[in-house]
Amino acid sequence: MMSDNLNIPDDLVTRLLDARRIAVLTGAGMSAESGIATFRDVSNGLWSQFDPRVLASPQGWANDRDLVWAWYEYRRAMVMKAQPNAGHFAIAQLANALQAAHGKEVEVNVITQNVDDLHERAGTTSVVHLHGSLFGPRCKACGRPARDLPAPSDVPVMKLRPPRCTHCNGYVRPGVVWFGEDLPKDAWRKAKAWVNDCDCLLVIGTSGVVWPAAQLPVDAQAKGKLVVEINPHVIALRQSFCIP
Ligand code: ZN
Repeated sequence: MMSDNLNIPDDLVTRLLDARRIAVLTGAGMSAESGIATFRDVSNGLWSQFDPRVLASPQGWANDRDLVWAWYEYRRAMVMKAQPNAGHFAIAQLANALQAAHGKEVEVNVITQNVDDLHERAGTTSVVHLHGSLFGPRCKACGRPARDLPAPSDVPVMKLRPPRCTHCNGYVRPGVVWFGEDLPKDAWRKAKAWVNDCDCLLVIGTSGVVWPAAQLPVDAQAKGKLVVEINPHVIALRQSFCIP
């Protein structure tokens, strides 16, 4: 993410070094370097005839759940094949790096709009997923988490029957937040608290930031926090959106 000619103002470095609590908001651009498909990419291939905004909606599920489940399982397989990139590792190591620099405790909390698990796999333990996770499927009927699902195939198929809930026999649905659905309450509450309590908010790879997540940097700024936006590939990011 860093380049040789990156010019970081001195006062920004000073304020970052002073920060004891840092919140990080990440979006699709964060995972793009790991090869995670963006909004545009995921509608390629087998699913090119379908609008991702319909597939990723309660209506899409009602229309054809086998199609939707196949699409999400393929995306889960693609994420499992991907690796965290230098940006994920830099965030995971940020607290330790700052503590090593000045010997004071630093807390780093990550708020991501991404549905992959690359922050966790890079070693970040404090993460909330505003848009849910590909790795948190649950029963559509009773809401219980579905555990021990078989690993998805990385060979795309057009339709796949979703598994059944072991408790109520309802269908298991993807654990993501679809268009038209509310954000998970706990994740949103935590995200707002982290932003409220932080000294500094880093906003990374989220040019296509989606409401209500877009409110977080606005709130931080209104409260006088240091807000730093990091978008190394601005032009590419303008075309990339988080897709639930
Ligand atoms: Zn159930």
